[in-house]
Amino acid sequence: MKMSERRQKMAERRKMRAKEESSMAFHVMLVPTLGCPSNCSYCWSSEEDSPIMSIETIEEVVEWVKDFQKGQVTFTFHGGEPLLAGADFYRKALPLLADGLSHLKPSFALQTNLWKLTPELAKILAEYDIPIGSSIDGPKELNDLQRGKGYFEKTMRGYEIARANGLNVRFICTFTSHSVKFKEDIFNFFLDNGLTLKLHPALPSLRGDNPEKWALDPKEYGELLIYLLDKYLEHFGEIEVMNIDHLCKNVFTHRGSVCTFVDCMGGVFAVGPDGGIYPCYRFVGMPEYVMGNVYDHPSREDLAQSDAWKLMFRFKDYVDKECGDCPYIRFCRGGCPYNALARTGGEIKGVDPHCTAYKMIFKEISDRLNKELSGASGAGMAVPSLQQGHETGSTPGIMSIIFKNR
Ligand code: SF4
Ligand code: SF4
Repeated sequence: MKMSERRQKMAERRKMRAKEESSMAFHVMLVPTLGCPSNCSYCWSSEEDSPIMSIETIEEVVEWVKDFQKGQVTFTFHGGEPLLAGADFYRKALPLLADGLSHLKPSFALQTNLWKLTPELAKILAEYDIPIGSSIDGPKELNDLQRGKGYFEKTMRGYEIARANGLNVRFICTFTSHSVKFKEDIFNFFLDNGLTLKLHPALPSLRGDNPEKWALDPKEYGELLIYLLDKYLEHFGEIEVMNIDHLCKNVFTHRGSVCTFVDCMGGVFAVGPDGGIYPCYRFVGMPEYVMGNVYDHPSREDLAQSDAWKLMFRFKDYVDKECGDCPYIRFCRGGCPYNALARTGGEIKGVDPHCTAYKMIFKEISDRLNKELSGASGAGMAVPSLQQGHETGSTPGIMSIIFKNR
């Protein structure tokens, strides 16, 4: 084949891929500011004096996304602390996005510490039925040690306002090298308070002079996941542990069900306060990861010219090679590229450092599932009883988790 034919073929393939990608589900994280009123010890994503996104930028987001994408779009407001943008911002931004992009059936979510939630803001969010993700690390004393004095009360105050206005709130619990020692207290706190648990391992901070101080060691993270799997089964029907649901689903369907375990590149973007487009909220504020700006309404092909886009896709190729022999590659995909790149200053030198944890929990779930399917484990498909909150039938196992919401 001649060089010119080969080039043409490559260009056609690129176009096909862009067409396929543009009809996939699509996630845009909007970061109205990197500012945050709290000061969590292990935070890596807030910035003092960060500007607040203007409504004009939201109008440009609408113009950019309008022709960029054909599939359904989800917008998540993220931070810093996104509620710092204030009620007026959301009163204007939400109808602009919902009406201007109605052909893409937009849905919304918000990640906040809830400190700034007022009844006025809660009503605006409730109009769009926005699910809220918040953060609490367990009982008050433990939480405030990690997230700062007064955090717990301020978040719980916002939680009450959210509930009073019919908003659905789920909490992310960050486990650190310190709090993991109190995993039972933390699990019981979520269980006793009827809260859904979603855990997040503390990453090394990119700020401060002791980045590893709070970071959760990958092996400890793996052990924690297995511990939570057991606790979840022990209290089956009484609590929801979202990560365990996702991990079991991954193993059973052989497909990733959250961004960490799929190729997020090309399907997830973040927009910073000034309209800068990044591969994910985690990169916002780092100039070397800017792929374009919403004010220029870049196409997929335009973004693909940026160094950040190329880096993300090089990571994908690297995973294909590096994880090629791993039995879990189809539903792990090398984990989170940010986690991998943050440790190496942006060089591709390894996969997500939590690989050890992923292997441990995927193996545990796979082994148990295989035993259940062969009938050797004694565990079956217990069905949670709605009346008593306890399982009926045989001992709950992985299959019970997989089918509990069907
Ligand atoms: S970089 Fe990590 S956190 Fe961001 S979308 Fe990708 S997998 Fe998710
Ligand atoms: S478990 Fe580790 S080796 Fe396997 S796909 Fe995930 S990151 Fe790669």
